[in-house]
Amino acid sequence: MKKVCKACLYSEDHALGIVINEDGICSGCKVHNEKYNIDWKERWIKLENIIKEYKTKDNRNYDCIIPVTGANDSYYTVFIAKEKLGLNPLLVSHNRYYNTPLGIRNLSNLRITFNCDILIQNININSIKKLSKATLFKMGSFHWPVIAGQTVFPVKTAINHRVPLIIWGGHQGVEQVGMFSHFDEVEMTRRYRKDHDLMGIEAQELLNAFDIVKEEDIHQLIYPSETEIETIGVRGIYLSNYVLWDPLKQHILMSKKFGYKSSFCQRTFDVYDHVDCWHFMGIHDYIKFLKHGYSKVLDHACREIRHKRISREDASKLVSFYSKQKPKYNNLLLDWLGIKASSFEYILNKHQKFKNNNQCPEENTKNTHFKYLDKIGFNPTSKMIYDSDIEEYILFGKGYP
Ligand SMILES: [Zn+2]
Repeated sequence: MKKVCKACLYSEDHALGIVINEDGICSGCKVHNEKYNIDWKERWIKLENIIKEYKTKDNRNYDCIIPVTGANDSYYTVFIAKEKLGLNPLLVSHNRYYNTPLGIRNLSNLRITFNCDILIQNININSIKKLSKATLFKMGSFHWPVIAGQTVFPVKTAINHRVPLIIWGGHQGVEQVGMFSHFDEVEMTRRYRKDHDLMGIEAQELLNAFDIVKEEDIHQLIYPSETEIETIGVRGIYLSNYVLWDPLKQHILMSKKFGYKSSFCQRTFDVYDHVDCWHFMGIHDYIKFLKHGYSKVLDHACREIRHKRISREDASKLVSFYSKQKPKYNNLLLDWLGIKASSFEYILNKHQKFKNNNQCPEENTKNTHFKYLDKIGFNPTSKMIYDSDIEEYILFGKGYP
């Protein structure tokens, strides 16, 4: 039987890899507990010392690059870099095209509120569709090009603009599964990107696997060479090694202070994390369940247990309820990729290892089943799902307001 952590709900089959020790406690919980013993003041001084050497003296270039989206930890990362560290960042964002109105709105509001320049990468749509179909077929992931794009665009921009420091928010490997300790102060690497973000597949490998994918479709997604990286001295640091990382508290603060907007999501109670995408918490998450036997709601639930806001028992009910939600808006994806529903089902069956019977007593649209979530702070600011009454992607969003 698979081992499950006694403190949280993770088991040994987490996709990022987890170790459960003799006491029945997982590596993620163990590393999480470091948060309560670290001298964060000392950490902050360390961070200030790191960034010192990257501050430009004549204001003729940016001090750092910050990868952002219309959700996740973007606001908090920019807040720390700009307001607390006094840096002049260049924001970079890879357009995933599955944008919700709320995501576009949050991204525009971010650059306006913090008065930052932003570069947005729009890879041609034909290549993105080809790649999405290829990776859906090969790995059961239409989302692979999104991850590939958002992990490489900041590095390429760092080289092209000669801005060596990249500042990321939380490190998933540290936060979820304790792959590294906070004391390792782990930084961005080519290897982690390939092994974990890209599921072991680099863009070049898609050339051999699919006739439809050509060199011109993948060149934007190829990681720069070591020589290019070393010449500029590109380095990516994670704020979660220097600041006590607590996404819920951070989101609440960002909503109050800077107008970050949240919404109900399809398959989780977390109203903040992934409101910028029509599919991340929908069909993408559903496929994750079919492949790995768990959904993103498990990550949210474990995080809340560790921060002692939700009991293990309640968290287990949340996971069970949200994992069974039927994903919505699948038609948007099928139309976009030009795939028939029957072909899509065939591909999902090919990658399916776990059963999900998709049965929930009532449709979830408002987190109404779990009233206590309001008090903890999972309150959506938008009444409509993704702030939209029309189901369509916003391919290129206008400025806001
Ligand atoms: Zn645990």
